[in-house]
Amino acid sequence: MVPRPILVRSTTPQSVAILGGGLAGLTVAYRLTCQGYRVTVIERRPLLGGAATSELPGDDPEPFTILGCHHATHALLHSLHSSPQQPEKIAIPLEFRLPDGSFVHYPRTSFPAPLHTWVNLLKFAGIPWKERWRLASWVEQLWEGDAELPADLEQRTADDWLASIDQSAQTRSLVWNPLAQWLTGNDLATMSADAFVRAMKPLFLSTRPDSRISVVQDSLQTCFVQPITEVLMQKSATILRNTDATQLRYEQDRISGVLLQDGSLLQADWYVTALPPQQLTPLLPERWLTRYAYFQQLAELQSIDSTILHLHVEQPCAAPRLILLSDTSFYSVLATAEAPDRTGFSLMTTESQLAQARPDSSLDIAIPDLLKSWGLLTSEYRVASTRRRTIPNAILSLKPGTKLHRPIQRSPIANLLLAGSWTDTGWPPNLESAIVSGNRCADAITLR
Ligand SMILES: Cc1cc2nc3c(=O)[nH]c(=O)nc-3n(C[C@H](O)[C@H](O)[C@H](O)COP(=O)(O)OP(=O)(O)OC[C@H]3O[C@@H](n4cnc5c(N)ncnc54)[C@H](O)[C@@H]3O)c2cc1C
Repeated sequence: MVPRPILVRSTTPQSVAILGGGLAGLTVAYRLTCQGYRVTVIERRPLLGGAATSELPGDDPEPFTILGCHHATHALLHSLHSSPQQPEKIAIPLEFRLPDGSFVHYPRTSFPAPLHTWVNLLKFAGIPWKERWRLASWVEQLWEGDAELPADLEQRTADDWLASIDQSAQTRSLVWNPLAQWLTGNDLATMSADAFVRAMKPLFLSTRPDSRISVVQDSLQTCFVQPITEVLMQKSATILRNTDATQLRYEQDRISGVLLQDGSLLQADWYVTALPPQQLTPLLPERWLTRYAYFQQLAELQSIDSTILHLHVEQPCAAPRLILLSDTSFYSVLATAEAPDRTGFSLMTTESQLAQARPDSSLDIAIPDLLKSWGLLTSEYRVASTRRRTIPNAILSLKPGTKLHRPIQRSPIANLLLAGSWTDTGWPPNLESAIVSGNRCADAITLR
């Protein structure tokens, strides 16, 4: 008689090594630690939180924005903060600055979906009436199924495609380009039309709650990094700061360990890399880079830098404002109230855009002058502090063809997963994308 095999369920929790302590890596670490996995986070910097955070003790908080459709981000916030202590999310209108110096906001009517999309578009005074009407008619044809999006959107630039649907050069520069830059970090001339449509859809073609824009006055550090770190420490996860992962070692077709810069080898059952693509490829075994198309395609991905200027001014701020800009070297400015008599301004740009502007005076003078010319600063103000931060390779370039190269989270190696806002999540490289990618890695491990 053949003996019946007895299945032995291991009672030892499985171990997971997570490379990179940005928001994607921290999401995986949080989810798995809560489910009893033995987690080790390896982060090369002294601080957790990744590219979007750089706060040092005493720094003013850097606010961030989220959309209503960022469901994974909202869910993580809810899970990290008890109901009375949820970070305050203030709904803000989307404003555009027109060439005559006036501001126009994108309306949010309360008609049921999808009617509100159409009405909002028709009421939006940032686009000349004729173009607005043409665009609204085209959107209607899409709903009715009388028109379809072209099949080649990923092969052409957003600028080229918008021109083909009769959006004038002025509308592209005043409205669509700053919107694309604010939502994706990419400009119209270089990003694919497919990435543009995917970024716009959740904001303009979804339900009213999904299209809500909120500013969170507390920083990413306070909202995500600190509470996740506390949970990791309470549950005895290991956090290795100032530690560089230098190589992924393999045996046959599995990862067998991660080599750290001090020469030690960390071994685990699972490995999740939550690093930018440029930092991931040097760690991979040469053999896999030549053998698997999945890893080869990482070399095709390119990134762009991001520059952010923070200015803290002693002047009251009646209400937070998000303004998208077209005729300066900045594409957006966010103004928030930091205290009853203090306003924080965050201006976003890229290093190359800023270099082109070559301001005559130092930024400490040039930026307040700009804000004054936009009517955002009165002449009676005192600058409390300024800070300029450039993050090289912060944002994935969404140039035509990129969609095909963004990898899914499961790799061909059974115990290796990839997280990061740049992986294939369907979102532009933002906070939601980082969290979605982290959730998918955690699910892949727990639901295996
Ligand atoms: C200035 C700025 C502001 C932003 N604001 C918003 C916003 O308001 N709303 C929004 O939705 N999105 C925003 N984003 C986008 C979003 O925050 C990012 O896409 C997201 O945080 C990326 O997280 P990540 O974990 O994928 O990558 P990263 O943050 O890049 O994390 C990767 C981590 O890996 C570490 N690392 C790299 N190599 C190694 C190695 N060899 N060994 C160990 N560790 C290593 C790095 O130090 C880093 O901590 C912003 C981005 C920036 C740059």
